[in-house]
Amino acid sequence: QFPFGRRLPCDIYWHGVSFHDNNIFSGQVNKFPGMMETVRKITLSRAMRTMQDLFPLEYNFYPRSWILPEELPLFVAEVRMMKDSNPSWKPTFIVKPDGGCQGDGIYLIKDPSDIRLTGSIQSRPAVVQEYICKPLLVDKLKFDIRLYVLLKSLEPLEIYIAKDGLSRFCTEPYQEPTLKNLHQVFMHLTNYSLNIHSGNFIHSDSVNTGSKRTFSSILCRLSSRGADVKKLWSDIISLVIKTIIALTPELKVYYQSDIPAGKPGPTCFQILGFDILLMKNLKPVLLEVNANPSMRIEHEQELSPGVFENVPSPVDEEVKVAVIRDTLRLVDPQKKKRKDTHLSFHTYLFIFPTQVQSLHAGFASMKDKQHKHHSLKLSLKLKFYLKLGLCRGLEQAEEAGEEPPEAAPAVEAALPSLCLKQVFPKYAQQFSYLRLVDRVAALFIRFLGVKGTTKLGPTGFRTFIRNCRLSNSNFSMAAVDILYIDITRRWNSMGIDHKESGNPGMCLQAFVEAFFCLAQKKYKSLPLHEQVASLIELCECRLAALRGKRLVWGCG
Ligand code: ADP
Repeated sequence: QFPFGRRLPCDIYWHGVSFHDNNIFSGQVNKFPGMMETVRKITLSRAMRTMQDLFPLEYNFYPRSWILPEELPLFVAEVRMMKDSNPSWKPTFIVKPDGGCQGDGIYLIKDPSDIRLTGSIQSRPAVVQEYICKPLLVDKLKFDIRLYVLLKSLEPLEIYIAKDGLSRFCTEPYQEPTLKNLHQVFMHLTNYSLNIHSGNFIHSDSVNTGSKRTFSSILCRLSSRGADVKKLWSDIISLVIKTIIALTPELKVYYQSDIPAGKPGPTCFQILGFDILLMKNLKPVLLEVNANPSMRIEHEQELSPGVFENVPSPVDEEVKVAVIRDTLRLVDPQKKKRKDTHLSFHTYLFIFPTQVQSLHAGFASMKDKQHKHHSLKLSLKLKFYLKLGLCRGLEQAEEAGEEPPEAAPAVEAALPSLCLKQVFPKYAQQFSYLRLVDRVAALFIRFLGVKGTTKLGPTGFRTFIRNCRLSNSNFSMAAVDILYIDITRRWNSMGIDHKESGNPGMCLQAFVEAFFCLAQKKYKSLPLHEQVASLIELCECRLAALRGKRLVWGCG
């Protein structure tokens, strides 16, 4: 922990909130640039919409969503149309402010006219989403699942899923939404931060009771009722892979901007929290992705009125300790050099204060899984070791102008088998056809020109059209400019928080829209994903030919 700054390079940097340090030239950082922005409610909904346009069946695990205020007229019109065609459809919608968390500002409505169009909706955009009315209930209660996913690398894509997660329960018996119960948050919202304030909240002292349980305990129960748990897991794995495939194009744009290729820089990894709801028929539905999932393994207990104490939470500990431990095992830079499966921390960690708690939790149960009651003591020892041993060692070495100590005392332990299961590239073949927008993003990045930007200027767009030979007598360069201006102006007027909101250029989503437009124009009768795939192939082919020609000219 370096509360006053860091002077030595590290192998692993453990940042508390986001990737924010552009002075890192090697090692690994536990955050991707732009992840926070990419998983915000609006950005996630847009990315999912793009994928739903291309592959509607594959992406039907994400509820139909509209972005407010800009899509309010579309929302009203589509709901009216659906109601007209199916008069028995009595939907409920959930309105969620962008950038909100812990259920903040969320409310349910029965009709589009119930949207609270106060001044705040203009200043605070939101997503309105179809409400899943028939969730799976356990003990008559609604619950959701928090699953931890490790994005170990973006290029090549490497994804791991934790074998166990958390199930977070509501605290009032569930009833399908009616005008009377719409406001009952303890019945409809599963957020821990809300339900903890209900008198019915039960802190679990084991992993299969109370208001927060392990997901594996729910699976056991479902399996004993005869449910096909294997199929459920396989659906969850596809949901996770497909969601990450939807996010990677935007992440790649941020990545090249913060860590330009060819220059020294770190690699990144990140633990994400996936919030998933199970429908009555066991179909998993994605609610949201969290870039900064809480790694707390304690909860507050009120000893006497107004007096609180932090006490260990066995359920959180069971799940989260394994996630952090295995993340460190997977990214351990020494791992490549060793063949044995034991872990030694020959690794210098740069930790922000808020994350120390989580980290020594990880260390704590590493040593001795069976003797859990030792883990707090051990945790304190390791905290001491981390703070006074390793870190002071580094500082002293640095002050003395020496190389850092080669190896801190090793924490050699026979570790339990990995709780993180690799799902990509393991199942890559099954999903590779979905990675079309990734290839569109690769074209976008190629024409961005000056490194360090995330928006394409008009000249870059023209060069893209020219190099791919997409303009012709039916589509003049003047029409190209009009397309650029139209789409770019609309995207920039939406006023979404973007890294370069002052830059008038074309962001990735705007380029994707323009690309889809061009594809539809060129290959009229095909389904959209085939139109887009054909245009990508044409562009890649023409750019490869151009490169070949340039090489020949270069040699000549
Ligand atoms: P927040 O980031 O504020 O927690 P979420 O999107 O996770 O926002 O929503 C909060 C809670 O609302 C979820 O945990 C879930 O219980 C409920 N919820 C969210 N979206 C839906 C939906 N489409 N259908 C049913 N319940 C939902």
